[in-house]
Amino acid sequence: EEVMAPTKTVQPPVHIAAIAHPGRGHINAMMNFCCLLSDRGDFHISFVVTEEWCSILSSDPPPPSCVQLCTIPNCIPSERGRAADMNKFLEAVQTKMEEPFEYLITEQLELPVQAIVSDTYLPWAVAVGSRRGIPVCSLFPMAASFFRALNNYDLLPVVVAADGDVPTADAIAEFNDHPLEQYIPGLHPLRSSDLNTVHAVKPLKKILQSFPWLKKAQCLLFTSFYVLESVTIDSIKAQVPCPVYPIGPCIPYYRFNDKTNTDQDHYLTWLDKQQKKSVLYISLGSFLSVSQAQLEELASGLVASQVKFLWVAREKSCRVQKIVGKSGLIVPWCEQLKVLCHPSIGGFLTHCGWNSTLEAVYAGVPMMTFPIFWDQDVDSRLVVEKWKVGMSLKGKIGKDGIIGKEEIALVVKAFMDLDGDESKEFRKEALKLKEAARNATDVGGSSYNSLSIFIENLSANLH
Ligand code: UDP
Repeated sequence: EEVMAPTKTVQPPVHIAAIAHPGRGHINAMMNFCCLLSDRGDFHISFVVTEEWCSILSSDPPPPSCVQLCTIPNCIPSERGRAADMNKFLEAVQTKMEEPFEYLITEQLELPVQAIVSDTYLPWAVAVGSRRGIPVCSLFPMAASFFRALNNYDLLPVVVAADGDVPTADAIAEFNDHPLEQYIPGLHPLRSSDLNTVHAVKPLKKILQSFPWLKKAQCLLFTSFYVLESVTIDSIKAQVPCPVYPIGPCIPYYRFNDKTNTDQDHYLTWLDKQQKKSVLYISLGSFLSVSQAQLEELASGLVASQVKFLWVAREKSCRVQKIVGKSGLIVPWCEQLKVLCHPSIGGFLTHCGWNSTLEAVYAGVPMMTFPIFWDQDVDSRLVVEKWKVGMSLKGKIGKDGIIGKEEIALVVKAFMDLDGDESKEFRKEALKLKEAARNATDVGGSSYNSLSIFIENLSANLH
């Protein structure tokens, strides 16, 4: 009798539960990944967010219909998605979300969950998957270089010296200028000081527990792409026990192609009227803030530079608005990718969140970096010293901890000067990276192929 090949028991669509760390950058990266996935296969994705985030996301363009928002109760001390107290916030993310997430995916969702895609910063999601026999894919929405640093954090002398506790400022200062490569191979050109704000995070130990959990993960996904961090990615592949897939940049094409115009889009009309590459776009992130004094200096410096600018500032500041007058446009929020890809944009003053950095790479826009916290110094170092597509403002900070308006005016003017030697070089390199990003994601490119293999392996491992 003829033996039949076993029929595949998994019927499409494959049901995935996706969960991100509750912050804009993480949620955007996860959402973009899910949309990309839904474009490449037959998936039904339950995108799990807290109630708070569900209401924030309701004003975004809706994702494709196969991606559905599902909520867990608000268990994180934050307001409109932002933490009042960073340490308490991070602590709650590590301890309060596991139970409601597990309850949701096992008791509340109509269809059984076949796989989980979770943010690397949520080790408990891997625990839930292990307990329930559901494969977990871990998505790291930041630079692979930053992953490599955190995953090998115990090799840094500063932590050993401080006995695993938050190290003293002296202990940090002692190895400030050392190349990280000296302790952790594959991290050129990062420096120890690029991790300074990381050392000071109180629940760091808890966060670092994410990394051993990767042993139980099905695979590790990066929103980076191979040529951006090839040496680092190779060193990660050699170190972690699961397959590694760099699949970025995950560009939110579904939003990008969204043609619905809202009244907030007046900034696009404004951009249409400006000269090619003449406008500086400014956004210092959705999560952290710089001081009011710095904002005012920035405003005065921008006006003095006589460069046109579009500035995303969440909090309305009458003083800043008064200084700016008609020299530039201030908006509370914009569709950043659309803005970055607009022909009038010639530069991006950024806090170097990883999504923003990737979006600028994709758009081919040079960056002026103003890193504030966590991975941003690492990203800034990559922008300035590895890819050479911009310059850092950090060195311009004065003794009072602020960059003065005169300094800002000078650097902004030089940075945006279409004839300047340095700025020409930045633009040339940015164009090369833009092309590399397109090559990676086009059919047959490194990220495209990584995603194909990921989908194949995922399907093969489903029950
Ligand atoms: N963003 C946006 N409009 C804004 C400000 C931010 O669309 O006015 C998006 C931006 O495109 C990026 C994300 O919000 O995708 C911010 O993520 P990032 O990692 O850059 O920084 P974070 O805000 O998480 O520090």
